[in-house]
Amino acid sequence: MTTILFENPIFLEHKVPEGHPERPDRLKALNLALEHERFSPLSRLQAPQGNEDLVLLAHPEEHLRNVMSVIPEEGIHSFEADTHASPASLQAALTGIGGAVAAVDAVFSGKADNAFVASRPPGHHAERNKAMGFCFFNNIAIAARHAQQKHGAERVAIVDWDVHHGNGTQDIFWDDPSVLFCSTHQMPLYPGSGAKTETGAGNIVNAPLSPDTGSDHFREAFKSRVLAALDEFRPDFILISAGFDAHHRDPLAQINLVADDFDWATGRLLDMAGKTANNRIVSLLEGGYDLQALAESAGTHIYRLMRG
Ligand SMILES: [Zn+2]
Repeated sequence: MTTILFENPIFLEHKVPEGHPERPDRLKALNLALEHERFSPLSRLQAPQGNEDLVLLAHPEEHLRNVMSVIPEEGIHSFEADTHASPASLQAALTGIGGAVAAVDAVFSGKADNAFVASRPPGHHAERNKAMGFCFFNNIAIAARHAQQKHGAERVAIVDWDVHHGNGTQDIFWDDPSVLFCSTHQMPLYPGSGAKTETGAGNIVNAPLSPDTGSDHFREAFKSRVLAALDEFRPDFILISAGFDAHHRDPLAQINLVADDFDWATGRLLDMAGKTANNRIVSLLEGGYDLQALAESAGTHIYRLMRG
């Protein structure tokens, strides 16, 4: 498999208050893990900055203006309970979108089989018209729309294994059966949504997990809910909202996965992509707040993408 990793130093310039879990050290920890020689075949490219029009693929113009209006000239501005902006935050968020779109272009042009975007801020909590939960713009929703509009993708599947429910992605595709959204997440937990009864136009598949869920139960839920839905949907493109905060070390949740579970889940999605999507997978970093768990789990995920 050819795997491209998109990265950009601007992602470190999105600053947050002292003690905030979604911090630049997350990417520094992942970068250290990527120094291992097993990653030497990985192609690493600079994520380009996306233009503001890309935001409009998933958000109304009002949302873009709202986010632009809260970017401070200096210091850190808190504009929602957990969500903060610093002077470079807009540029970082637009580069996260640019990286996601470049990753989609790379797999549809055949330059890569799959790609991972190591960006921050994350995106899956951003609703159509609301920044929340550390997220400004919904990168994965924009990537899905771009794949449809630019590359003619007809059946896009988004698999979200971040420990928090991807309420933003669900909101954006709630009434759009051309996109399947499947999520495993702890419940109850922030943001509160993600019950099995939330099904949208039949295209939303939630697999809530109770606190203290371990590997076996996670894999069973992933098979019976997520993989079963993918099998039926037969996606021609798979996107992954790759958060690693379901790891047992993570401080924000109580699910007890280990790095090997992310290897397993990645492998199952590679199998699926091989069957129906010409191998095309794009994975975007979402959460993961214990530095050691994040570095190990994201490294395992990327290495699995490289091996196919
Ligand atoms: Zn999360």
